[in-house]
Amino acid sequence: MLGSASDSSPIAILGAGLTGLSAAYTLARAGLRVVVFDAATEVGGVIRSTRHSEGWLVEAGPNSLQETPAISALIGELGLASERQQASPAAKNRYIVRDGRLRALPFSPPAFLRSNLFSLRTKARLFREYFHPRQTRPQDVPLADFFRDHFGQELLVYALDPFVSGIYAGDPRRLSARHAFPALWKGEQEHGSLIKSQIASARAKRAKGEPSGPPPIISFTEGLATLPRTLAAALPARSLRLGCAVSRLTPTSEGWILDSAPGERFARVLLTLPAPALARLEIGAPGAPTSLASLDHVEHPAVTSLFLGYKRADVAHPLDGFGVLLPSVEKRPLLGVLFNSTLFPARAPEGHVALTVMVGGARHRELAGQPIEAQLPVVQRELATLLGVRGDPVFAQRTHWTHAIPQYQLGHDAHLEVLRAAEERHPGLHIGGPLRDGIGLPACLSAGQRLARAALER
Ligand SMILES: Cc1cc2nc3c(=O)[nH]c(=O)nc-3n(C[C@H](O)[C@H](O)[C@H](O)COP(=O)(O)OP(=O)(O)OC[C@H]3O[C@@H](n4cnc5c(N)ncnc54)[C@H](O)[C@@H]3O)c2cc1C
Repeated sequence: MLGSASDSSPIAILGAGLTGLSAAYTLARAGLRVVVFDAATEVGGVIRSTRHSEGWLVEAGPNSLQETPAISALIGELGLASERQQASPAAKNRYIVRDGRLRALPFSPPAFLRSNLFSLRTKARLFREYFHPRQTRPQDVPLADFFRDHFGQELLVYALDPFVSGIYAGDPRRLSARHAFPALWKGEQEHGSLIKSQIASARAKRAKGEPSGPPPIISFTEGLATLPRTLAAALPARSLRLGCAVSRLTPTSEGWILDSAPGERFARVLLTLPAPALARLEIGAPGAPTSLASLDHVEHPAVTSLFLGYKRADVAHPLDGFGVLLPSVEKRPLLGVLFNSTLFPARAPEGHVALTVMVGGARHRELAGQPIEAQLPVVQRELATLLGVRGDPVFAQRTHWTHAIPQYQLGHDAHLEVLRAAEERHPGLHIGGPLRDGIGLPACLSAGQRLARAALER
């Protein structure tokens, strides 16, 4: 379909979240013309940082980012080094609730041995995991089963389950081991033991001169939205069309036509929309459309993010950590609480602290949909018990995500196959983003770069 005439046409990118902007930036740097369409009036997608005049910096969506080497290189290229903020060393502490009390999650082997979070039996089990045999499983299994095989029930309940809530707002019994944690899946195939696999990967990084620990956790002085805003500003003039939803794509012999830009032709189209938006797109000629409608079955549990500001004196806990995660077995109504003003400086006015409470997810679907008047009393009660919070918040902002994070459940292959088949049917169409490439922000950056490479290939 891509004749020489259409090759000189610009490339259309749908979605100006991190995935779309990463693709646009990569292509623009390679000298190609791009036009990015987004239904919203601001760039960034779910990344939403707002500074309020009193000094609160609210992150309604993602709160922090792992600084992988690719993110670090981008920060250098965009001249953002002076705005980069690294999470406070205190953020190394992560709390888990057990029997209604906060306990620190141990990170080093000596801390694990001393920890009162896990029983002696589980501690012995962790050391036995080192001898787990190498295996290639004939088929995907629930993440919970995979993890239990290696580490036993207690670590599943008090480590993996809250961790999965923190990342996916999901349920490890329904998530796919192969898709949700591909590194663990591969680690088992190559090393048997996941601990051995960790050690081998740290060694390989050291051999390449890279730091072997986890990447630093970062943000920016004015929040994560700095990254998409700066990427957008680095694009040539007239590359962005905001407030411009696309609902139909038609391939023709002269290139792609989009319903929102009928007089123009595009050499290629990159789709970086979330699954529910992909499901509604019409692709192809009116008589023979390619349907992505089945992507509507990808589960995205609703999550409410409540950003709450308190007077410092009204919170008894030192807030010396990243935050608290709540295992589902504790049967409490929250998913987790982030200690924003500990993580990064200048998130709250002097003498105040900022917390972000996550409610809902796969566990508490009903509570997520309720108005703030119904949620606040529940949240206040929980914060009083867990963190010794007294009195009302002096600042509150609620953001409700009806479709927060795509769940990579068992059977995820079927959704990936729908994407692959659409690309095969329509040369010049490329699809990427959290549904396919991983949900974290570094994965979205790589997804955009992958899409740009695919569009550059002839
Ligand atoms: C509440 C929440 C907290 C998170 N926390 C973290 C975190 O702390 N760290 C982390 O690394 N990741 C986190 N994530 C995940 C991460 O933020 C997302 O995976 C990532 O930002 C997705 O970027 P994207 O560009 O692929 O998609 P999106 O940001 O969803 O952007 C897609 C864009 O497409 C646009 N669009 C939709 N339909 C159309 C249409 N028909 N035509 C044109 N445009 C359209 C939308 O307006 C949107 O701007 C979080 C996600 C959520 C929801």
